[in-house]
Parts: sequence; structure tokens; C-alpha cells
Amino acid sequence: MNASLPSYLNSEDVGPWGNYLSQVDRVAPHLGDFQHLLETLKRPRRILVVDVPIRLDNGTMAHFEGYRVQHNTSRGPGKGGVRFHPDVCLSEVMALSAWMSIKNAAMNLPFGGAKGGIRIDPKLYSRAELERVTRRYTSELGGFIGPQVDIPAPDVNTDAQVMAWMMDTYAMNQGANTTGVVTGKPVELGGSQGRKEATGMGVFFATRETLTRQGLQLDGCRVAVQGFGNVGSVAAKLLQAHGALIVALADHGGAIYQPNGIDLDVATEHHRAAGSVVGCPQCEAISADAFWNTPCDVLIPAALENQITEHNAMRIQAKVIVEGANGPTTTGADDLLEDMGVTIVPDVVANAGGVIVSYFEWVQDFASYFWTEDEVNQRLEHIMLGAFDAIWRLAQERGISLRTATFVIACERILRARQLRGLYP
Ligand code: GLU
Repeated sequence: MNASLPSYLNSEDVGPWGNYLSQVDRVAPHLGDFQHLLETLKRPRRILVVDVPIRLDNGTMAHFEGYRVQHNTSRGPGKGGVRFHPDVCLSEVMALSAWMSIKNAAMNLPFGGAKGGIRIDPKLYSRAELERVTRRYTSELGGFIGPQVDIPAPDVNTDAQVMAWMMDTYAMNQGANTTGVVTGKPVELGGSQGRKEATGMGVFFATRETLTRQGLQLDGCRVAVQGFGNVGSVAAKLLQAHGALIVALADHGGAIYQPNGIDLDVATEHHRAAGSVVGCPQCEAISADAFWNTPCDVLIPAALENQITEHNAMRIQAKVIVEGANGPTTTGADDLLEDMGVTIVPDVVANAGGVIVSYFEWVQDFASYFWTEDEVNQRLEHIMLGAFDAIWRLAQERGISLRTATFVIACERILRARQLRGLYP
């Protein structure tokens, strides 16, 4: 096979795509016969870049960059979120789509991996402008997405309303009801019970399982959470409800610390009113940098990529890191933390709760038969714990990290599917 890379794939990439490539390289020695197919995971299957022009409220026009990448579809249609962020770029979306391939395979969901994004700061635009951006982007994606092709969902700065606009735009263009084209929709439009909380709930399950296997208690456990969005806030609340103390919270405004445990009702209210947790009553304000040395037992990065690097890893006091965000730890930091004896539950396991319930939503949409919240949560727990157990056992058996064990299981599934399908034509 020709191993030289296409011009748009930079093997020297130091961002999330480079991070993903080094994770794949680490898995190679563990893949046996499948090693010769590994090249397939180093290049996305399809990449679409679109211009998204819209009319602004003031009558002028603006252009945004839109992306959708389908990394691998050997095991099923593409699946993964869409993010709105000013730093979105092709290599980031490529990495996020690749992590979706790994995540979906690790959880044994019948999906490939995909991701999308628009390079926009949503805080600077009105709701009507964001609706026009979403609809134009969806329309430009055209047949690149679809219930059996590629199914978007929420990610950073997108929510159920954005999914409703995407679904409506796609359905209008198709002239048919197509609720299964996106997941994370409002429940009134074919969304699933429990989808909004699912990622945070999965982070909670992953934390609880890890502590149990290490003979540690959740009760009294000190937890620091970076990010107070949909993932961080739900995980923090569930952990607190089960006895943990949330001692530190960080967001884009800075960080807060309270060794006796932050009152999350107060923090939530302050965050809603002020737009940040900083300034929350009864808490000490600390710098975003000081957040990393907070005395704690568990650290949950639930914001963006490349947060834990060689520069701050040595200062981390936690014994367990549960990655709520996608790609928060660089490969260099991964190595340092492993030497320090820190257990890292990788993103592709820890935050898989969202896509697991997205899978349930997709199934429910096809059947037009909807489950109760209890059914959803029980099935979510069942899938997550089963996958977690297999990954934990493989890591123990082979003396490898949880991340490498997850990649072994996922890459084997993807490459086996590819081998069974054969190469077309
Ligand atoms: N954006 C979420 C993730 O990174 C969910 C994707 C989905 O539900 O398709 O896993």
C-alpha cells in the first residue's frame, strides 16, 4: 500500500489530528494481522468543506467555513456531532471524526465516525442569524448526510434547537419526514428521553466504575471539573448526588475552589446569571492555571482539546482523570501521567454516553416507538459497563493503558469489518 499521505494530511500535525495519529501508532504493535490495514485509519474517507453565507440582521452578508468529515464508515453510517466554535478548522474536525470512529466501535454501536463544525463564535450572533447559519450549512451538506449516510448530533455550542433546524431543513429538502437524520433533537420532534443528560451520566458511570475497581469510595471523593457546559455540569451534579465533593470548577472565565465542596445549585444559578462560575458565592476565585494543581482525587476535563499538556501534567494531583471532553490530553502529557501512576479513562469511553443515547434515538425514530427515561438510562448503563469491563480487562491482561486497550478493541472491530467487506471494486 502507498503509505505517503495526501497533501492535506500533515504527519507533523501537533494539534488534535497529530495527537490522534500518535494514538493510532501506539496501537499498531497490538493489532497482529490487522496491522497491515491500519493505514486506512490514518486518512478520513470523505471530507466536505462548504462556504456558509448568510444575511446578518443588519442587512449585510457574512461568510463562515463549514465542515463535515466522515472518517470511517466500515461499520455503519457516519455518526458524530456538529460544533460551533471560532477555532474550528479542518484538522480539528478530522481528529474529532476519527475519535468518533473509535468511540462508536469501542461501544460496539453500528456506526462509523464523523464530525462537523462551523467556524463561528455563536456568542456574537442573534438566534435568527444562528438559525440561518444552521439551515444554510445543512442545505450545503445535502446528500452528504442522511439517516443511512451520516447522522449529526449536538457537540460544543450546539443543542436540541440547532438539531431541530437541521432536521427541518433536511426534511424540507427531501419532502419527507426524516427525523432519523440527526439525533439530540427535542423530545417533541422524535428526540429521546435522557439524551441531554447522557454524556454527563456516562462520565459519572465511568468515574464510579474506575473508583470501585481501585478500591476507592465515591463518598467524600474530591473532584475538580473543567467546563460547566452540558457534560461537566451534569457529571458534577450526579457525582455530588452520590457523595463526591466538587472542590473546583473551571470555565472560560477562570476557576473557583472550595475544599468543603461547591454548592452546585448556587454555582448553577451564578453561571446562568453571570455567564461564568467565577464570582460564585462562598468560593475562592483561582486562576485558570492554578486550577490544574487543585488538591483533588479525580479530575474531569470537560471542555476542549489539548488542555492537559506537558506544561501542566506534572502539577496534577488527581489519581484518576476521566476525559469528558474529546481529546483533552496530549500524547506527551499521557506519557507523563502514566509514569506518575495516574489512571486515565479516555474520552472515547468516558464521554460515549452521548452517542450511545443518540443510537437509541435513531433506533426509536425508525421504529416510531419511544422508550421511557428509565429504559434509556438502564440500557445506557448496560452498554457502558459492558464496554468498560472488556477494556479494563484487556488493559490489565496486556499491561497497557486504558486508552491503548480501547483503541485495540475499536481498531480490531473496524478493520475486521473492512476486511469482511473487501475492497471495492
Ligand atoms: N458530540 C458527541 C460526542 O462527541 C455526541 C455525538 C453523537 O451523539 O452523535 O460524542
